[in-house]
Amino acid sequence: MLYTELNIELTDEHQHLKEQVHRFSMEVLRPASLELDKLPADDVVKKGSIYWDCMAKMYKNGYHTVLISDEYGGLGLDPLAVHIFWEELAYGSVGFAVSLGCSCFAAFYATMLAEDKLIEKFVIPFVNCKDASVMSCWGITEPDHGSDNLAPRTSFFKDASLTQQVKAHKKNGEWIISGQKSAWISNGPVASNCALFLNLDPSKGLSGGGICLIDLNQDGVTRGKPLDKMGQRELPQGEIFFDNVICPEEYMIVDPESYEAMTELTLGHANATMGAYFTGLAQAAYDMTLQYCTERIQGGKRLCDHQWVQKKLFDMFVKVETARAFSRAAMIYNMNTTPPDVKYSIASKVYCTEAAFQVTSDAIQLFGGYGLSKEFTIEKLFRDARAGMIEDGSNDTLSMTAGNIIVKEKLGDE
Ligand SMILES: Cc1cc2nc3c(=O)[nH]c(=O)nc-3n(C[C@H](O)[C@H](O)[C@H](O)COP(=O)(O)OP(=O)(O)OC[C@H]3O[C@@H](n4cnc5c(N)ncnc54)[C@H](O)[C@@H]3O)c2cc1C
Repeated sequence: MLYTELNIELTDEHQHLKEQVHRFSMEVLRPASLELDKLPADDVVKKGSIYWDCMAKMYKNGYHTVLISDEYGGLGLDPLAVHIFWEELAYGSVGFAVSLGCSCFAAFYATMLAEDKLIEKFVIPFVNCKDASVMSCWGITEPDHGSDNLAPRTSFFKDASLTQQVKAHKKNGEWIISGQKSAWISNGPVASNCALFLNLDPSKGLSGGGICLIDLNQDGVTRGKPLDKMGQRELPQGEIFFDNVICPEEYMIVDPESYEAMTELTLGHANATMGAYFTGLAQAAYDMTLQYCTERIQGGKRLCDHQWVQKKLFDMFVKVETARAFSRAAMIYNMNTTPPDVKYSIASKVYCTEAAFQVTSDAIQLFGGYGLSKEFTIEKLFRDARAGMIEDGSNDTLSMTAGNIIVKEKLGDE
């Protein structure tokens, strides 16, 4: 049974979407994610693995086009529906939800700019794809640049001694790209293209950056070994190396003048989506724990009959409900606002990932010893939630970035 929907204005379409995605996520993604969790990272991405099978099923359902308008053949969902979609997908598997979310990076930028050449190259083939062979990734993090690269409007962007490690220079009217992205690139081992954040003007430091949409199946691109990690193991991640890779002029979509603003806009969308993913994960952990507490007997009665357990369950319930209410509000506001107000997206990401971590941690406590056992799914959800507090920006540095924005807005140019 799904949770009580507090939004009494949900339409029949929203309700239908919620039930359909929830069912798919529990029937297809959850069992696959548990299977992939046990595999070495190399095997997750092998052709024929259940990862590819699940991604293809999502593409066949059109789920990969969740952010693409119906004008281009996408699902054309409204902001509340987008939130519901991500919540329910992440309920079954946050790793698959992140992989699908990253798959649309290039197409998302291309539809935003709406230039024919970009639509032809990055949107049409993506929308028509049914086997997940057309897949994007977001290449921002580098071996020497994690938090600083994701901190628009802070002093890092003004410091000329800090520049992205992936750089591009112009030759005969084309961009030539060299450098390395870190092992944390989601979909790095499997993506066919990348929304690549790089440096165009080293004299300006990080703010001399640019963004290009680049084909990864071309000479000069190589990939590292898929990353073995603690949580979200169904999500393939890995390094990407560029050695004099050619990018046509028209695919360099952002120059230094708008780089910082585009980084902020990207963070605004990505962090709002993280709020939705981790609301879904928190709900899953809460539901699982409530069920367990009705089954486990201690002291001659069910755990749920003990008053302290009821209090703990209530605390978890409050965290899930507040995460959903805030995350939906932030996403709906920011999908309707240009540019998005990034401090709300950051607040949603930080709040929801911490709520998910606390809920999964409380869940482990209530499961007792069984919570630590790999036989129980809650153990995986705890690891998945832990990764969320670093993913898409560490919660500490994101909080500092948003705090800096709050103060700057209050003081104006002072
Ligand atoms: C599951 C997952 C998925 C990811 N997916 C992607 C992806 O698709 N694409 C991509 O490009 N990247 C991705 N990342 C990378 C992610 O964005 C970075 O891990 C994150 O930005 C933090 O960078 P870092 O790991 O280099 O940590 P660092 O920046 O090295 O930070 C290490 C620690 O130091 C703290 N710290 C850093 N700077 C300061 C400061 N100035 N003051 C105080 N404390 C500071 C941080 O809070 C953190 O606790 C992903 C990461 C994870 C975990």
